[in-house]
Amino acid sequence: MLVAVLLAASTGLAIGAVVATAYLRRTTPAGPTTPAMPLTNLTDASVVRDAVGQLKIGVVLVDVDDTVTYSNSAATELNGTHAGLIVNDNLTQLIESVRAGGAGSREVVLHGPPRQILVIEAKPLPRGGMVATIQDVSERALIDSMRKDFVANISHELKTPVGAIAVLAETLVGETDPTTVGSLSARLVDEAHRAVRTIDDLLELSAIESNRPARDIVDLGEVVELAVARGRTLAHGRGIEISAQDGAAAPVRGDRRQLVSALGNLVENAVKYSHDGGAVLVGVRVDDPWIELWVADQGVGIPERDLDRIFERFYRVDKARGRDTGGTGLGLSIVRHVAQNHGGDVAVQSQEGDGATFVVRLPTGLMEQQRNGTDEAFARGAGDRHG
Ligand code: ADP
Repeated sequence: MLVAVLLAASTGLAIGAVVATAYLRRTTPAGPTTPAMPLTNLTDASVVRDAVGQLKIGVVLVDVDDTVTYSNSAATELNGTHAGLIVNDNLTQLIESVRAGGAGSREVVLHGPPRQILVIEAKPLPRGGMVATIQDVSERALIDSMRKDFVANISHELKTPVGAIAVLAETLVGETDPTTVGSLSARLVDEAHRAVRTIDDLLELSAIESNRPARDIVDLGEVVELAVARGRTLAHGRGIEISAQDGAAAPVRGDRRQLVSALGNLVENAVKYSHDGGAVLVGVRVDDPWIELWVADQGVGIPERDLDRIFERFYRVDKARGRDTGGTGLGLSIVRHVAQNHGGDVAVQSQEGDGATFVVRLPTGLMEQQRNGTDEAFARGAGDRHG
């Protein structure tokens, strides 16, 4: 039985299995003044020990009589924690299993919070003893599960209109009554458009997620005008008044297409979720350190319980309300990504039945007259893309 597997032994390092195979260039904080070392020095046990000590993966060496001869700092960090006890137990069992010729790897789930998934592996070393590694794969597991959810969601979202198209088309075959043909065809066109909208929004979201935003000089007044025009097209015949408020900010450095798309989505939503004859206001204001692009409506509003979730992909409040606006559930994800790409964010204020106000905040550092902040804001945005 191993005792305190993770406790670092101060001596007895034997990492014969870790062999440098190339002439390594030093990139450690010692910096450029330190001359590159010849290969022979880099294979010294102390150098190898330093290198293994830097790894994020926990490394533990155990000799033939189950004594821990080395553990790097990623492994010793777990000492004295609840997680450390669980890892220790699993490591002990794993080493016994490998000795008996059994499996050399296991996954350990720590329920947390935060929930963590660790993969522990043990391998015999050629000269006796064993090397064990402890790797935190929580992030990879989370991304895998998000990807699976995403694929399942897309399949579901597309299956509905495509399935409807198939059924409508089959019904149309051989139908001779002109009224029935007319109504089936109209529904066919609707469903086809719904599928196209979902695919278009997915492509747009994917482009926004994967491309760095452009650095056009963007007149936000023009962005407002274009978004208002988009809203007016959608509002046609419903008596909804859409107006832009004065107060435009100086031009900003940003991705014109993305900003028009974000504000356009917000204005379209304001129209979709307004009552006929309602009013929608759109504006820009500067409230240092933010430039705010805002859209306010007097429509159906959003229940409090949904406010946190509406920016998720495919999340719709309307399903629960039983109201079909033909939305894809992707618009607000697009808005959030655009805001993040520019180093900003998006917020909503709403009460059910009492309208909603969405605000996209962009850092004032993007303003042309304050160009110094531009790079910083973009760097923040580019490094901050999730879900
Ligand atoms: P959708 O394509 O369904 O509009 P979005 O991602 O744009 O998808 O919005 C997600 C959900 O948030 C919508 O289904 C709707 O229920 C709610 N929502 C968005 N904007 C508004 C608004 N201005 N007023 C009321 N509800 C809104």
